[in-house]
Order: sequence, then C-alpha cells, then structure tokens
Amino acid sequence: MAELRSLIVVLGDQLDLDAAAFDGFEAGVDAVWMAEVAEESTHVWSSKPRTAMFLAAMRHFALALQDRGRRLHYTRLDAPDNAGSLAAQLEVDIRRLTPARLVMTAPGDWRVLDAIKAVAAGNGLPLDIREDRHFFCSVRDFAAHAKGRKSLRMEYFYREQRKRHDVLMQGGEPVGGQWNFDADNREAFGPAGPGAVPPRAAFEPDAVTLEVIALVKSRFADHPGRLDSFAWPVTREQALRSLQAFVRDRLPLFGRFQDAMWPDDPWLYHSHLSAALNLKLLNPREVVAAAETAYREGHAPLASVEGFIRQILGWREYVRGIYWTQMPGYLERNALDARQDLPAWFWSGATDMACLRDALAQTLEHGYANHIQRLMVTGLYALMLGVQPQQVHAWYLAVYVDAVEWVELPNTLGMSQYADGGVMASKPYVATGKYIERMSPHCKGCRYDPAQRSGERACPFTTLYWDFLMRHETALAKNPRMALQVKNVARLTDAQKRAVHDRAAAIRRGEVGVAHG
Ligand SMILES: Cc1cc2nc3c(=O)[nH]c(=O)nc-3n(C[C@H](O)[C@H](O)[C@H](O)COP(=O)(O)OP(=O)(O)OC[C@H]3O[C@@H](n4cnc5c(N)ncnc54)[C@H](O)[C@@H]3O)c2cc1C
Ligand code: SF4
Repeated sequence: MAELRSLIVVLGDQLDLDAAAFDGFEAGVDAVWMAEVAEESTHVWSSKPRTAMFLAAMRHFALALQDRGRRLHYTRLDAPDNAGSLAAQLEVDIRRLTPARLVMTAPGDWRVLDAIKAVAAGNGLPLDIREDRHFFCSVRDFAAHAKGRKSLRMEYFYREQRKRHDVLMQGGEPVGGQWNFDADNREAFGPAGPGAVPPRAAFEPDAVTLEVIALVKSRFADHPGRLDSFAWPVTREQALRSLQAFVRDRLPLFGRFQDAMWPDDPWLYHSHLSAALNLKLLNPREVVAAAETAYREGHAPLASVEGFIRQILGWREYVRGIYWTQMPGYLERNALDARQDLPAWFWSGATDMACLRDALAQTLEHGYANHIQRLMVTGLYALMLGVQPQQVHAWYLAVYVDAVEWVELPNTLGMSQYADGGVMASKPYVATGKYIERMSPHCKGCRYDPAQRSGERACPFTTLYWDFLMRHETALAKNPRMALQVKNVARLTDAQKRAVHDRAAAIRRGEVGVAHG
C-alpha cells in the first residue's frame, strides 16, 4: 500500500491556495509537490526579472502552504540533487514518495502538460487533471463558442462573456447602451506629457526575494535583464494591494491613455497586474469586480472601466481559448513565410532607434513593457522586418515577468506577427513611424525621420512598412481591411520602390538601426 494517497503537483504559475487541485486535500494522506528547475529558465533564454518573479512567488507560496498545514515536498534550484527539469524531478520524487496518484490543476503550457502526462504514464500512475477555474471561460466552453464559426473575433466572444457573467450589464443590455468605448479612449499625452502619474505599487524585496535575486544573479549571470529595481508583487497580499492601488489611482485614466507612450515611463496608467494574474496570485473575477464597483460608485468613468474589463474578460480569456484550441500546431505557424533572424540587439537594447531603445531598456530593466510598446514598437518592428515568428515568440516568452505560453504565444504569433494567417487578428497590424510619432514624443529625440521612407534619415519603421506592403502586396490585396493601404503601393514609382527595397535590405543586413560605441 502506498503511504501517500495524492501528490498534488503545483507549477510556478499555479499559486492559488483555492485551486481545484486542492479540493478534498487531507493533510494526513496528501502532500504538495513543487520544484524550481533550470529547464524552465533555459528552454527559452529567460530574463533575470522573469525567473526571479517566478521563484520569489513560488517560495512565498510554499510558506503560505506550510502556514495552512499542507505537507510540501519542495525542491530548490540550488539543491545539490536537483534533477534539472520538471519531468526528471517529478520522476525522482515519485520513486521516493510512492504516491498512489498525481493530482493537478490543468497546466497553462502544452509542453508541460505533455511532460507530466508522460511521467504519470511511465510510472503507471493515475493523473487527475482538474479544470482551471481561475478562468471565466473553460476550454470546452470556448471550443463550443468557436464551433461552426467561419472566423473568430474577440468582440463577439467578449459580448457573450459580459452577458454570461453579468458584467457591466443592466436589464440584459450593456450599461451605457454600447459594448465598446474605444472611440473615447486612446489619446496621446500631448506636449506637456503625462504630468504627475501616481507611482506604481512597488514592493521592497524581503529576505526571501533577496535570496532569490542573489541566486538568479549568480546562476543565470549571462541571461538578459537586470534585477536592481525588482519590485513586483510576489505574494497574494501584495497582489491585492497592487489591485487596490490601481483601481484607486490609475483606473480613472486607464482607458483614455491606454495607447499612449512616454519616454522612460512604461508604467503610465496601466495596471501592471498581468504577472500577478498569470501566476494566479489574483483572480480575474476579483479584478473585474473591483473595476465594475469603481464605476458603479462613481470613482471611474464607464469608458475606462469598460476598456479595462475588455482586456481581462475579453482578450485574456480569448487568447487562452485560441491557445488551447489551436495547439500544438499553432507553435509552428508562419503564414507570411518570415525567415529573418531576430536582431541581436533585441537582447541588449543596443539600437539607435529612440522608440525601440526605450521599450527595450524598460523591458530589460523591469521585465515589463506596456501593451502598445509590445504590439506597436517591438512587435511591429519584428513583423515588418520579417523575423521568423518562432524567434519572436522565444524572445517575448523570455523577457517579460508575465510571460506564460498560453497568453504570450497567441499575442505574439497571432496578434502581433500575423503568423496564424488571421485566426487572432483580421489583418496584420502594420504602420509607419508616423503612428509612433502620434502616440509618443520619441521621434523628436531620434536620429531618424518618421516622414521619410528612403534615404539616410529614413525611419526604419517607415521604410519597412512600405517594404512589407510591397513584399506581400498580392496576398494583402485580398484582405478587404488591407486593400486601401495596399493600393498606395501602386502610387510609388519604380525608382521609389527600388529606394525602399535597397534601404530595407540595408536594415536587414544590420547596417541601420544598430547602436555603435
Ligand atoms: C507581442 C505581445 C506579447 C504579449 N505577451 C504577453 C504575455 O506574455 N503575458 C501577458 O499577460 N500578456 C501579454 N501580452 C498582452 C499585454 O501586452 C500585457 O498583458 C500587458 O501589457 C500587461 O501589462 P499590464 O498588466 O499593465 O496591462 P494593462 O494594460 O493594465 O491591462 C490589464 C490586464 O489585461 C490583460 N490583458 C491586456 N491585454 C491583453 C492581451 N492582449 N492578452 C491577454 N491579456 C491581456 C492583462 O492581464 C493585463 O494585466 C502581450 C501582448 C503582445 C502584443
Ligand atoms: S523616427 Fe522612427 S525609429 Fe525614431 S523614434 Fe520615431 S518611429 Fe522610432
């Protein structure tokens, strides 16, 4: 007879004491299993902030489990006999602990699910995988929504979710009489800048986090990113404080400045809650409820609250549905046949393009960039340069503290790179440097000119925009949402096209955009 009834497998992004995996937990017969393993930081070149975020949150969660009297088998990264990967460590511990079965909440990554299934099968152990009730929408319900639809669009999914969960609804209709307040949102800051934005909720690392920071610095010394200003919430209590501070201080202006950028300030009016949500320190229901209450109590305007709730109840749930209904083939998609290598300076920030330099510096410093920087600066550049989407995916999965594959992959491969050929987005998001000039003052301090598409001072975004349209002209002309943009290519003379082509080739050879010295 096995001594241990259930070994509850808890992964680094499953830090929820009320998760389904704990249902029926009995202290006398069950135990929890957690492991810090190098493979999770090396299968992509995980940045120091990202690895520190996961390890610090895991160690604090381990303490919370012990506080609740839950028996725990925890392997630290620096344990001398650490097996190096989740599968190998689990294998070792199964032999040592001889549980009768494994129990877990459904993991967020296909790769991890596959690996754990293989370990369970290899050891002849039953594996009880339970629904992840963190999410509003189960994978089964998403598949039912998707079934029979020619194309999927977030907007219809989001409206269904609003009705189903009775969020911002009144008498069966959306509050305020419309579903979407985009027209009221998305302003730039103007020349005076953002003014005194309330500071982000920052948490001084405690002894546990400091120990993790020291470990990551020594163990992953050559990995990208820095740890000197690490201040992320790594406990449930800190995550709740972040949520309260956001709703109180930033939510009222969130929508209005959702797409704005400002040099040296990635935080602006964003919530910075993605890592806490993805590690399950926060539940999306409490986040949505807090935002809705702020509206109902007159603290925040409807346009802002709706814009924020759309991100959580809409986009976040939608991308998860896409991931689990499209994997594993999704990982390999490359609809535009993009083959360029990712420029090496994405990992160091050494570029002379002011907008990219800023976005990359913040990414490496904090493991954070806001949505518009990810979509319309780094992502846009990689798309128009024609970088192989799998390399772009590996970069995004590595650098951000909130990066977990189920949410990162559809955003990168689908929304940003259009590599899924239109599953996520109805058209590729392409724009010239003029878009960045409209949303931020970066161009004023840049050596390039967003209005020029060729020549020495041409903004690489502008050159690559025209090059992208020229390279994909035939395919894009068939997309009604791109037709107008594509038509403009016909207005270029042959000489103008050649100049764009030559400049784009120089950018691809690394002769433009790289910072020297
Ligand atoms: C190329 C690319 C890669 C991305 N990779 C990730 C990733 O690895 N992890 C991640 O959580 N988000 C990712 N996003 C989505 C989004 O950029 C981040 O969620 C957001 O920037 C996190 O900052 P915030 O918490 O301040 O968000 P806010 O702007 O305050 O938004 C509120 C919340 O809404 C959710 N949200 C907003 N947009 C999205 C979206 N497109 N998809 C899913 N959830 C969304 C997040 O949970 C976020 O915390 C990516 C976007 C792009 C374009
Ligand atoms: S000119 Fe081009 S490269 Fe420079 S900041 Fe503007 S958009 Fe970025």
